[in-house]
Amino acid sequence: MLRIAIQKSGRLSDDSLNLIRECGISFISSSLKLKTESTNFPLEILFLRDDDIPGYVADGVADIGIVGENVLVEEGKQDLTVEKLGFSKCRLSLAVPKADEYNSIADLEGKNIATSYPNLLQDYLTKHGVTAHIHTISGSVEIAPSIGLAEAICDIVSSGSTLISNGLREVERVFSSQAVLIANDNLDEEKKQILEKLLFRVHAVQRAQRAKYIVLNVPNDQVESVSQLLPGIKAPTVMPLAEEGWSSLHSVVNEDDFWEIIEKLKEAGAQGILVVPIEKMIV
Ligand code: ATP
Ligand code: ZN
Repeated sequence: MLRIAIQKSGRLSDDSLNLIRECGISFISSSLKLKTESTNFPLEILFLRDDDIPGYVADGVADIGIVGENVLVEEGKQDLTVEKLGFSKCRLSLAVPKADEYNSIADLEGKNIATSYPNLLQDYLTKHGVTAHIHTISGSVEIAPSIGLAEAICDIVSSGSTLISNGLREVERVFSSQAVLIANDNLDEEKKQILEKLLFRVHAVQRAQRAKYIVLNVPNDQVESVSQLLPGIKAPTVMPLAEEGWSSLHSVVNEDDFWEIIEKLKEAGAQGILVVPIEKMIV
């Protein structure tokens, strides 16, 4: 049995649970319960506050966990990282009141900065040769300038709308974060094997998220040139259509290249292009 710690309720919770479900791991969850066991995989899930997850995994109370890199690195536990998961992307940024003049980080010399991430901020300031007074507060950091606690803040930003609504302007990016899977260093053989199985499934899910299955019709004399545009896993599958002189091509394309390829395919004479999501992808 492997024990995973995930955030009980917050910005990491839904995506963490979805990842576990997409790996084909079923469980009954109730918002009241602090732990649950999967019904079809040797996994027990603990629901915790995100800040506690690195510590629990380091101590072996949980074997693995999902947490934001911002929390992990702030707590100095980045060595536990196994895998970046690609969700809950956000950044830790410095912000100042909109109307204040700001030219460079040197403007923060001797200033008061409020944050929940004193270590990440201190590292950044040290790297840039700036000395400032860091005030560590646990929440509502964005109101610190308006109540006179600090001249600047350092907080998590994703769209930036919270900053704007508090009259602040983002001036420096201190740290880029996403959710990561972490693991205890001393897992026994049985737990290591379960983790391997889980990682195999996580990779299949991640590959599928980036890939799209593409089906299209091409005149036979264009099969060669269109095939060149479709990298696929190996080569595209080519099947004759009932209509004389036409073939159907099936392949896999990366979401990132998707639009560029679609344009080129149309130029090369492809028609009836279908793009379909892939649920799992094992290579
Ligand atoms: P807890 O009650 O578990 O301590 P919290 O209030 O500290 O929760 P959340 O706001 O739920 O934490 O954020 C959890 C993590 O999600 C953050 O540490 C960060 O990695 C990520 N995160 C925070 N804000 C955003 C955002 N706006 N967009 C995407 N990810 C975010
Ligand atoms: Zn927290």
